[in-house]
Amino acid sequence: MMSSAKATDAGAAVGPAGVVYADYQSSKPVDPRVVEAMLPYFTQNFGNAASLHGVGDAATAALEEARARVARFIGAEPAEIVFTSGATEANNLALIGYAMRNRRKGDHIIITEAEHISILNIAKYLEKNGFRITRLPIDLYGRVSPKKLRARITDETILVSVGWASNEIGTIQPIAEIAETLAGTGIVFHSDAVAAEGLVPIDVRETPVGMLSLSSNDIYGPRGLGVLYLRKGVALAPVLLGGGQERGLRSGTEDVASIAGMAAAADIMAAEMPAETARIKAIRDRLVARVLAEIPDAHLNGAPLDHPGGRLPNNAHFRFAAVEGEAMVLSLRDAAIAASTGSACSSKTLEPSHTLISCGLLHEEAHGSLEFTFGRFSKEEDVDRIMAALPGVVARLRELSPLYNKPPVGKALGGGKGPA
Ligand code: PMP
Repeated sequence: MMSSAKATDAGAAVGPAGVVYADYQSSKPVDPRVVEAMLPYFTQNFGNAASLHGVGDAATAALEEARARVARFIGAEPAEIVFTSGATEANNLALIGYAMRNRRKGDHIIITEAEHISILNIAKYLEKNGFRITRLPIDLYGRVSPKKLRARITDETILVSVGWASNEIGTIQPIAEIAETLAGTGIVFHSDAVAAEGLVPIDVRETPVGMLSLSSNDIYGPRGLGVLYLRKGVALAPVLLGGGQERGLRSGTEDVASIAGMAAAADIMAAEMPAETARIKAIRDRLVARVLAEIPDAHLNGAPLDHPGGRLPNNAHFRFAAVEGEAMVLSLRDAAIAASTGSACSSKTLEPSHTLISCGLLHEEAHGSLEFTFGRFSKEEDVDRIMAALPGVVARLRELSPLYNKPPVGKALGGGKGPA
């Protein structure tokens, strides 16, 4: 059973001791209440949902109950939920599954330049397999224009995929407008909602997407589990073949423990999201205000905090003139602060972020980026700890930088079309 402990009580035991964890976009702790909800499925109710005996029946009952709760979280029907091994697999099933099944209707797919690396690589794969891909540009804040999307639709367009929000700069896309643009065209609209889930309300009754990718860990559930929401009537070819689980769309024995964990995580998130996001936003807003006021030549990447289209409430993504993002992350690591240069999924490459380049930043500007993302167990004091270290880190690295000629506080970086 789920404990009634408040997230903040549970928070005392969450997170690596002594470390300020400000990289929630890369990975989140599993909420201790979720861990508790999962435990019976490891040693008691461990059956295979496909078995005919009672142990299997109990697993089936747990699986279907969890499916209904996950469906409720996004306003879907239980039969519209397909469990996968994560958001990467959900994205593969959505795009490859839809393209392969619906090839005869057309060969054109539209994505944006700001998509997660999984969507970008799937698009390349589809291109090699005969599909035509349009990659929509984004503006300097990272937003895609529904008008530009409309202009690129052809009779051959079968699918549009636009992430609900950027996992790097936190820009929220005009998803409702895009859904409206596509309504009645027969073109299916997919959105990778991983960066947005748990931070902005998502209800498929209000925003009629055809497919939606979700991840369990992004709502403080276990990693290694994702969901593809598949609206009734949208037909896919499976990409994993086997025993025909998940109505033939995703073979493989269902991980009932993780699925029960995601259901618990969804219930907790639904109950706590409004208060939680307000608290996280206040922490984020304070960090942004202090960084811009206290560190010379610091800029916020992405949309301004008061942009009407919106920015995820947990995201603070900066650039600092003449300082490398990796050097800042490593120096902060020495100060027991966990931050990021951007997407963890692409952080092992030395290429600058494709999203920042698409926003119009120069390579050297994109390389000077540092991302902080907050979450359920973040605390007010985290901002003080970050600000006790960051100004010194930036100043020291600039002393070593031949590129930095110490302009006065507030001088614009110049170059690119990047937001000031
Ligand atoms: N989409 C987005 C927007 C992501 O940030 C991520 C990574 N968290 C993924 C997809 C892939 O998720 P996973 O690694 O769980 O497959």
